[in-house]
Amino acid sequence: MSEEKKEQTRGEQLRRALLYEKKNGYDRLIEGELEAMEAYCTGYKQFLDAGKTERECVDRTITLAEKAGFRPYVRGTELKAGDKVYRINRGKAITLAVIGKKSLAEGANIGAAHIDSPRLDLKQNPLYETDELAYLKTHYYGGIRKYQWVTIPLELHGVVALKSGQTVRVSVGNGPDDPLFTIGDLLPHLGVEQSKKPLGEAIPAESLNILVGSRPLEDDEGKERVKLAALELLNRKYGITEEDFISAELCAVPAFNARDIGFDRSLIGSYGHDDRVCAYATLTAILQLNDPEYTAVCMLADKEEIGSEGVTGMKSAAFDTFMEDLCQAQGVPLRVCFEKSFCLSADVTAAYDPNFAEVYEKRNSAFVNYGMGLCKYTGARGKSGASDASAELVARVRRVLDSANVVWQMAELGKVDAGGGGTVAAYMAQRNIDTLDAGVPVLSMHAPFETVGKLDCYMTFKGMKAIFEMI
Ligand SMILES: [Zn+2]
Repeated sequence: MSEEKKEQTRGEQLRRALLYEKKNGYDRLIEGELEAMEAYCTGYKQFLDAGKTERECVDRTITLAEKAGFRPYVRGTELKAGDKVYRINRGKAITLAVIGKKSLAEGANIGAAHIDSPRLDLKQNPLYETDELAYLKTHYYGGIRKYQWVTIPLELHGVVALKSGQTVRVSVGNGPDDPLFTIGDLLPHLGVEQSKKPLGEAIPAESLNILVGSRPLEDDEGKERVKLAALELLNRKYGITEEDFISAELCAVPAFNARDIGFDRSLIGSYGHDDRVCAYATLTAILQLNDPEYTAVCMLADKEEIGSEGVTGMKSAAFDTFMEDLCQAQGVPLRVCFEKSFCLSADVTAAYDPNFAEVYEKRNSAFVNYGMGLCKYTGARGKSGASDASAELVARVRRVLDSANVVWQMAELGKVDAGGGGTVAAYMAQRNIDTLDAGVPVLSMHAPFETVGKLDCYMTFKGMKAIFEMI
């Protein structure tokens, strides 16, 4: 090649000017970003290991928020620009806000993610003994592929609420010397019939029983000595009896901590990326915010995986109540604030997986390392259940992300009619809030061990920050 600049052909000029070219995020990073990305992901991995249930995520969020100067909002207290407040909803969801310079009558910039993840909940009468082994019955929570949950190590997390009003926290498996639990599967030698079944039928839900003990109570002639011995241990450690399971929320989660994946350590493998990867991005962005133009709101919701139902889900009026309290402090009607607000529904999307190329439509899929994935719409079949963001809204977000040097891409979950999914976006839009879906592309979404690209995690954080700083 000669030194002098070669003149572009007409074709080259047109290509540059007209074609939409996608580029790997690693070819688009600006100076210092590799280091910033690593540092960010270290914090994210700690967040994952500390928060394996929505309650634990709320606890961790409070610790980080208090450190950043956030305080619980007391209804009726005055609010001024720069104030940092939060409110917990029943220990399972949390909303944080940084008050903007402009009145809430001008709207708020909202980031909404969820902190519940697919898992195995214990039933309310879970403990039983059969053939001198003790088990816990489970009821799966969220969309899981049941065959993925057998023969992996499991931890037990949650609470037991006693009749006295006291709540006991349970966490077994997270400590270095803790025992773990597991669910059995057939050995291949005897799995001939099972192997003929479709994947979805090979492991029935009622066979997802967790093995919790095998040693019988000593010096006893009675029945169910293994179950009794297990209960004695629980009683000694937590002060609970079998009846207390009735008012308990205990769940089994994979006993995997977050780890770097790949020779190049460019990915993170963990349980619960969906949707803690976006929750952490939204949270970190608001924690770093000072004196925004518009009020910034970070909503970390519960129950998204089962349809955003219930008092702690995104359909709950708890969010409106908190926002109304903020509005009232400024004499603004809530509906006026909502109609001017913007929400980025920060939830994960499916990353294109070359091993299963047949379910993706490559032109419109999100790719690992191509940045934050924007979904104009979600839903299934003919966009059923979708919150389809307006073209104008997508244009505005393109502008904001580009001017903040955020690497982003468009994302559609998979081929039309291959399946589908939804997020909290629809419930934000129902409130008359302009809403767009965006988030991190995930490989093996909803599996006990999901994988994401570090670059996409970092870009989603950068994107959320740009949204909160949007004017
Ligand atoms: Zn999900």
